[in-house]
Amino acid sequence: MNGTVTMPRANMNNDTRVSSPSRFILPLPVLRVLKVILVTAVLCPASAAFVRHTPLSIRPALSILHVNNEATSILLGGVDENDDNNNQEDTSKNISSPRLSRPERKAQERANKLNKTAPRRKHNFKERSQILQDDADAGGSGRYDLHSTAVATLNQDSTADDVMRAIKRAQNLHDVHDIRAIERFLLEQTDASFAYGYKGSLLARLAVAALHVNNHELARKAITVRRVEYPATMMPMESAAIIRGLLRVHNVTDALTILDDELALPLSTGLVLLSEPSNKEIIKHRALSLASIASRHFFENEPSMAVLACQQLAELGPIVRQAELEADDINMPWARILRGAAQCESGRRDGRVKLCDGVEVDIPRNVAYSVLHAMTTFPSENTDRVYELLSNALVRRVLFITGAIDMNGCPPADRGEAVFIGRSNVGKSSLVNMVTARKSLAYTSKRPGKTQQFNFFAVNDKPGKEKEVRYGDDVPGEKDPDSFYIVDLPGFGYAKVPEAQRQQWAAFTQEYISKRPTLRVVFHLVDGRHGPTDEDASIMRQVSQNLPSYAKYVVLLTKADKNVKSASTKNSGKVSTVVMNRLRETMQESGIRNTPVILTSAETKLGRDDIWRYLRLAAEA
Ligand code: GDP
Repeated sequence: MNGTVTMPRANMNNDTRVSSPSRFILPLPVLRVLKVILVTAVLCPASAAFVRHTPLSIRPALSILHVNNEATSILLGGVDENDDNNNQEDTSKNISSPRLSRPERKAQERANKLNKTAPRRKHNFKERSQILQDDADAGGSGRYDLHSTAVATLNQDSTADDVMRAIKRAQNLHDVHDIRAIERFLLEQTDASFAYGYKGSLLARLAVAALHVNNHELARKAITVRRVEYPATMMPMESAAIIRGLLRVHNVTDALTILDDELALPLSTGLVLLSEPSNKEIIKHRALSLASIASRHFFENEPSMAVLACQQLAELGPIVRQAELEADDINMPWARILRGAAQCESGRRDGRVKLCDGVEVDIPRNVAYSVLHAMTTFPSENTDRVYELLSNALVRRVLFITGAIDMNGCPPADRGEAVFIGRSNVGKSSLVNMVTARKSLAYTSKRPGKTQQFNFFAVNDKPGKEKEVRYGDDVPGEKDPDSFYIVDLPGFGYAKVPEAQRQQWAAFTQEYISKRPTLRVVFHLVDGRHGPTDEDASIMRQVSQNLPSYAKYVVLLTKADKNVKSASTKNSGKVSTVVMNRLRETMQESGIRNTPVILTSAETKLGRDDIWRYLRLAAEA
């Protein structure tokens, strides 16, 4: 118990705020820590030195623990305990560096890889070959020695684990010689019963390792034997790994063969259910393999193969749903595919893409549309990250071009147009901003004087000229191939607008809808809480009488989140049956038929994928 007395005195020496031991009261957690330190001090007398140096009374419990760690380091380092300065210096030397997170470690590894002077982790082939040569000179088997004992000790009694370890080691060391030796062992020295039915899996893993070291011959042999002799034990996950390996070495032909052979879609008959676990597994890995094909080709600036893979994904989507696979079950890497698509599209604009020979496919104006098409067929998580990437790939720049009050004021009809129309406060600005992932696009239209015009925003116009383009300016420069106009029509139903003004808008709207040759889609926003108003009905009548067949009419029910309690991305919104029925009746009375109705919410981002499917019509006009 002497220690208890010593400590406050030592503290008093360091901190004058503690005037007397009798008035000194420590909180319970601090006392507990002190107890630990004291026990340490008793068990290890040297730690008493630390106790004398630490002003414990004024520190919170956490810092005491921290200091205690420092003390341990100091003691381990064997520092002169009487020298405070020394203590501080050596503490910093002895405290081990903090453990890095995985991304940090990976970043460091990448940096080391780039840095030629960094120590290489790989096998020292030169030294190894010298040793083998020396061995040969001394009468040994020389160069044909096995590099690792893991391989040398493989025999009939080895387990699947032993072989797997040998394969992994050979792959990590990029040791083709060992991979060949393992293949020879598996194919020539073991029978079908080796590894209790895992031989096919071992061959699959071996093929992946061979592809990793770029040895097609070894890989092909392992793949062929696996497919011919062990088809019953082939697992979809292994097939997907082989496909990824083949793609890594640009062997697309073999990858596609495996995709269509080992990951062929099960036929859904009365006897075979797609939702059976084994079928789900095949469907999942087929989807992931197609995703690999798409993203790899996008990143390598080969859009035709990537777009083809996206088309196959779009065909697979409904089957995925039929198999009752959820978004979480597959975890499709849409973000990676979209990043690849954006990069490929940028390469395409700069003329850097190459088209694959023999792949016949229509490439969209922006390859990200093919990803969107595939995405919309799959069960969706509706994640913001993915849609932000999508919007950024599809909307790279938005410029306010002009505000028109009649047909003469409209810009030249040189690209597709998508019109948003709806009464004021229906949520038009919020929706346009949500779809384009912009914070301010529609704010521009709120500037005084702009609210009573048809506001034209050019999407992907005049690359590099954004700063020069001003209202009415004629700035030379090519628009991107996927450029289109978003046209924001004035919010009708605005009480302060005089009747004459309203009639002028109605006349302009009618003329615009019927005569604008590049109009491709009219989005009519209707409040999802209340349903269509009289003015909505009048717009519907105008549309049904005037909209040409080349333009699509789409009703967007807004603010759907307001109809559910605590809306979230999982429970993102709905409309009541009453509102839906009223909408149907109004549409019927107005002569509108076969019109898509999309539920939307700027809050939960509901409906953005569907809206993009129609915006594409304008971008590809
Ligand atoms: P606009 O006049 O048609 O452009 O309508 P705004 O986009 O300015 O929206 C009007 C009001 O409705 C604003 O207060 C918005 O925050 C709100 N709002 C718009 N869209 C939604 C939505 O989807 N959900 C909810 N809860 N509020 C919305």
